[in-house]
Amino acid sequence: MVDATIQDEMNYCAKHPQRDTELRCNRCQRYMCVDCAVRTPVGYTCRQCVRGHEDRFFEGTALDYGLVAAICAVGGALTPLVMLLIGGFLILGFIVSPAIGGTAGQIALQLTGRRRGRYSGYVAAGGVLAGGLVSALLLLGGLGLFTLLFLALAASGAYARFKVSI
Ligand SMILES: [Zn+2]
Ligand SMILES: [Zn+2]
Repeated sequence: MVDATIQDEMNYCAKHPQRDTELRCNRCQRYMCVDCAVRTPVGYTCRQCVRGHEDRFFEGTALDYGLVAAICAVGGALTPLVMLLIGGFLILGFIVSPAIGGTAGQIALQLTGRRRGRYSGYVAAGGVLAGGLVSALLLLGGLGLFTLLFLALAASGAYARFKVSI
């Protein structure tokens, strides 16, 4: 008798109503089938909750991206200027350029409340390159091999600040 009552209480996956299941999401408590369950360190979570969690993590807004691009563009624009100042000491550029990019990225990160958007790293690197290219054309009248190299170093310095490790 008791067994029968338990078997009568069938639960079905919230997404696949034809599949009965006993698995429940540890976040939203919805029933889910094995296909919908994602194993996490704290138990089984449904795909919707996992995705919702990721979306909250990558909550960069258009304003954030705009700020990041603008600040990194300034950092990029400074890179050719610093190269002018250091003149013949090109070796210094290898140290200074990533530092400029990293600093620009750090400032951008602070001003956007440390929110890292999914594309922040690319936006930061793109900002550095765009600002640097314009500045190089204006200040140096063209792009040399080292200018490109240092801008790439500055861009990767900025990108590294936004790298999201999961
Ligand atoms: Zn859930
Ligand atoms: Zn399912």
